[in-house]
Amino acid sequence: MKHAEIKLGSRCNNNCIFCTANNKINEMSTNEIKNIIKGIDKKQHDTITLTGGEPTIRKDFYQICKHIKEKGFNLIIQTNGRMFSYPKFTKKITKLGITKICVSLHGLKKTHDNISKVNGSFQQTINGIKNLKKLNVFVSINFVINKYNLNEMQDFTKILPSLNVDKIQYSWLEPNDKIKEYSKNAVKFSDVTKNLFMCLELLKNTKIKTFMVGIPPCILGEKYERCNLSPPDMLIYLKEQRYSYNKNTRNEKLVKIDECKKCSNTLCEGIYKKYIETFGKTEFKSIKK
Ligand code: SF4
Repeated sequence: MKHAEIKLGSRCNNNCIFCTANNKINEMSTNEIKNIIKGIDKKQHDTITLTGGEPTIRKDFYQICKHIKEKGFNLIIQTNGRMFSYPKFTKKITKLGITKICVSLHGLKKTHDNISKVNGSFQQTINGIKNLKKLNVFVSINFVINKYNLNEMQDFTKILPSLNVDKIQYSWLEPNDKIKEYSKNAVKFSDVTKNLFMCLELLKNTKIKTFMVGIPPCILGEKYERCNLSPPDMLIYLKEQRYSYNKNTRNEKLVKIDECKKCSNTLCEGIYKKYIETFGKTEFKSIKK
């Protein structure tokens, strides 16, 4: 599946501390979005991912989803999941045939509500996940590892089987312009590995697929050598802009250090530049053949 991602705008009903949505993006009109969809070549990109901000809070959200499905694309929605706590809304959207819903959830109740800066958002998201799973929708959870949820990674992971989710993605905090003090929210890889291994152990005998994003393989060892691969090429649409998201654009944020020259892992994406600036290079040791 090759993806085209449409960022519908930057409005959101959460206000996450590490949000990468750009506040300057003006919301696109329904017609502008339809025009973008019209321009996507299905032979090149058969799947459309809707993101924001929060795409589900748009008044025309159903209309947009319906239009995408009528044009024959697969549809993925990236969301905080809160709108899916409304059963009627969930039924209406999922009836269209959604390929996957990726839900951001960053901790247990207190931590998630603190990160999203909205009291009650955790419970709404959990209710949304439950409603989606009642209707057999594929649900993937995105958990961004940071200073505030580091110590409850295991307790968080323990609730996943009971939610019946299909996939969990442990993502490294991605530096962006909005994070003025990256070091305030970010943690060191070496502070996380023990917790991460325990989480992977907890999920070992479940049906939940595990993915890691932004964590170099040398941090986790040979067993996880396929954990930080370049994402597939993707087209991203913002209002009046279109750009490719591929190895080259990722490379602007990532760097390979001297140690990488000796490394046998040729698939690794490298390390976030901002991470190196903040925490240094000493944790990275090349993987021997
Ligand atoms: S040494 Fe460099 S290339 Fe090798 S896994 Fe680590 S970060 Fe990636």
